[in-house]
Amino acid sequence: MSGDPVIVVGAGIGGLSAAIHLAAAGVRVLVVEQNPAVGGKMGEVRRDGFRWDTGPSVITMRHVLEELFAAAGRRLEEYLRLLPVEPLTRYFYPDGVQLDLSRDLPKTLAQIAALDERDVEGYLAFLSYAARLHRITGPVFIYDQPPGWRSLRRVPLGDALHVDGLRTMQRAIESYVRSPHLRQLLGRFGTYVGANPFQAPATLNVIAHVELNGGVWYPQGGVYAIAQALARLAEELGVEIQTGVPVERLETRDGRVCAVLLADGRTLAAAAVIANLDVATVYERLLPPGAGQRRRVQRLLAAEPSCSAFILLWGVRGHHSQLAHHNIFFSSDYRREFDAIFRQGVPPDEPTVYVAITSRTDPDHAPSGHENWFVLVNAPALGSPWDWTQKTIAYREVVRARLATFGLRPEVVTEQVLTPLDLQRLTGARRGALYGLSSNSPWTAFRRPHNRAPDVQGLYFAGGTTHPGGGVPMVILSGRVAAHLTLADDDGLRK
Ligand SMILES: Cc1cc2nc3c(=O)[nH]c(=O)nc-3n(C[C@H](O)[C@H](O)[C@H](O)COP(=O)(O)OP(=O)(O)OC[C@H]3O[C@@H](n4cnc5c(N)ncnc54)[C@H](O)[C@@H]3O)c2cc1C
Repeated sequence: MSGDPVIVVGAGIGGLSAAIHLAAAGVRVLVVEQNPAVGGKMGEVRRDGFRWDTGPSVITMRHVLEELFAAAGRRLEEYLRLLPVEPLTRYFYPDGVQLDLSRDLPKTLAQIAALDERDVEGYLAFLSYAARLHRITGPVFIYDQPPGWRSLRRVPLGDALHVDGLRTMQRAIESYVRSPHLRQLLGRFGTYVGANPFQAPATLNVIAHVELNGGVWYPQGGVYAIAQALARLAEELGVEIQTGVPVERLETRDGRVCAVLLADGRTLAAAAVIANLDVATVYERLLPPGAGQRRRVQRLLAAEPSCSAFILLWGVRGHHSQLAHHNIFFSSDYRREFDAIFRQGVPPDEPTVYVAITSRTDPDHAPSGHENWFVLVNAPALGSPWDWTQKTIAYREVVRARLATFGLRPEVVTEQVLTPLDLQRLTGARRGALYGLSSNSPWTAFRRPHNRAPDVQGLYFAGGTTHPGGGVPMVILSGRVAAHLTLADDDGLRK
């Protein structure tokens, strides 16, 4: 048994989840984070009396958070107050239609009937289809170890036929509902993993289930409260968290990771390492050249990322009573928008705009008489010819003009812009991708790097680029998988 700690590199949500699971099992854990604060992509900005979340804003799958706290013998409610969001989202369409997706099913159905009465039955059938996808795919692709032949063999043939991996999300949606409004709305769930609904497999319609059947939650105080709560829980369990400490290299001996070299010159011996940053970056920058099977590493480096985003943090004067907590202003041609992002590598000229306003629920997030708008538009990952250093101001005007077509001309009193370049710089996200690797292929679930490095012993992965993928609940689950694999390989780690 080694007296060295397990070192978690990165205090993103996946890293914190792994640290909690290990510490709860009695393992000594040290987390080293390059940024001054924990959270990674889950960040916050305070400025001129305003406060914004800068990363995730839609929290689903409450049970995943509950289970994380329960694994440490605690109750979620002791750390976080998760409030149900109502409406789930308010949707605005260019033709003037407005639709509130509600937790209250009859309320939602009445609005759908006004669009096309036949879609009431179509929508209900879609909900049950999405629930079935969750029942079938959950145990294999989401809640357990990475999928393999053994887990696939456990899926009864009758269920396997319903995984729906051969048609696209949008095709499947069109087979259930007729209204173009509803088709666009349901396709939008592809963006919850940064995917293109016109390309991604219909299996991803499972995402609609977690929101429409499970609800959206908002942690009082802001989404960043989740990162703070996880860090607090980890520290209570004895985890040491060092921030402002970039890791420069992982040292290996006889094919096994043995130490972590920090930018400040210190070398820390490690019983095992859980890397929370992008898997490709670990091979490219942290491991010694030659560690890792060459072909695999090349494939990792070339893998397509999920989309990125262009974000405006606006302090806005006045109160906009027509807006809810989460708002979507749809484009008139969704397919064209995704073609721009994923095929042409440029931000759409007529983007769908998302606006979240947490001061609706937490008035102290903006000075009196003001609101804090988090404005997000999906954008291509870095690597295309689009140059954000030249085009940021012009694109901000595109977004403003888009909102103006919906009658919204906010008086902005303070602003911070975040481009994909900023996301890459601030969070280490490779190519600025929000959700790690692209989910546009039916094979994504099988191609994601495993949570256990196959070619370096003692090295594990937690986070959006490993199983089961990106998004807050997913990376919490990835932390659990990484911790369980670490323990399974070396039971002597328990104190
Ligand atoms: C703008 C935006 C909007 C999003 N919206 C949503 C949403 O609404 N709902 C949702 O569920 N998800 C959303 N996501 C996705 C979600 O935020 C991520 O999937 C998740 O937070 C990623 O967690 P992670 O564990 O992969 O770690 P990351 O957040 O990627 O953190 C990795 C950590 O490692 C650190 N690190 C990197 N390199 C080093 C090094 N060399 N040494 C030390 N530390 C290092 C980084 O600083 C960082 O803190 C959004 C993301 C973004 C950016």
